[in-house]
Amino acid sequence: MSALRPGDVDAVWFDAGGVLVLPDPEVLGPLLAPYGGSSDVEHHRRAHYAGMAAKSRADSAEADWDVYDLAYVHAVGVDDDLVSRSARLLGRTRSADLWRWAIPDSVTALANLAARGVPMSVVSNAAGQIEWALAHAGVCSVDGRAGVAMRTIIDSHVVGVAKPDPAIFDFAAVAHTEHERSRIAYVGDSVTMDVNGSTAAGLRPILIDPFDDSPDAAAHRVSSLSEVVALFT
Ligand SMILES: [Mg+2]
Repeated sequence: MSALRPGDVDAVWFDAGGVLVLPDPEVLGPLLAPYGGSSDVEHHRRAHYAGMAAKSRADSAEADWDVYDLAYVHAVGVDDDLVSRSARLLGRTRSADLWRWAIPDSVTALANLAARGVPMSVVSNAAGQIEWALAHAGVCSVDGRAGVAMRTIIDSHVVGVAKPDPAIFDFAAVAHTEHERSRIAYVGDSVTMDVNGSTAAGLRPILIDPFDDSPDAAAHRVSSLSEVVALFT
C-alpha cells in the first residue's frame, strides 16, 4: 500500500538534495563540457536522477558516489572514451556547498503547500550546511525569513545520525508531536536512503522519480513536488 490519496497525510517532511536543491548545474555544466558533456540545465537535472537511481540499484553506501558519478556523466553525454576520467573529476569536485541550485518546481510547490497551511520540515543527510544553504537559496527557513517556513530543519551532521537510520526522523518528530507517523509523508529522491529509511521510521514515503527510473519502488512516486500539493485539498 504505497500509493497515497488526498487526505491520507497531514504533514510533509522533505529530503533536501534532489527534492529542494540540486548540485549546481551552472557549475557542473562548464566542468564537464570539455569532455563532451551538455551544459543544458535540463540534461543535468536528468543526470542527477539517473545517478540517484543507479546509486540505489547498486546499494551504494551514502558516502559512495562512484556509481552516481558514472551514471551522471553518461547522462550528460560525455564522450565514451572520457566517461571514467570525467566521472573521476565529478567525484573530486563534489562539495556539500554545491547543493545550492533551487529546483523551480519545488519552490513553487512549497509556496502552495505553505498557502494551504501544511506543516512541513526538512530531514537531510548533509554536512552541517543545509539549513544555511536552503535559506541562502531562498527555499526555506525555520523562521520564515527566507522562503517558506519549516518547523524544523534536521542536518545529519548536526544531529549525528544519518539516513537510512530511522532514528534521524526522531529529531523532526519533536516538532510534529500532534501528527501520527503514519500520516506524515517523507519526500526523497533515494530508494535506499529515503524510501527505506522513512518506511522504517513509520512514515509514508514519496519518491521523486521524474524520469521513471524506479518503477518498482515501494513508495508513492511523483514526478515533481506539485503532485505532493495535490495530496492536500
Ligand atoms: Mg536526496
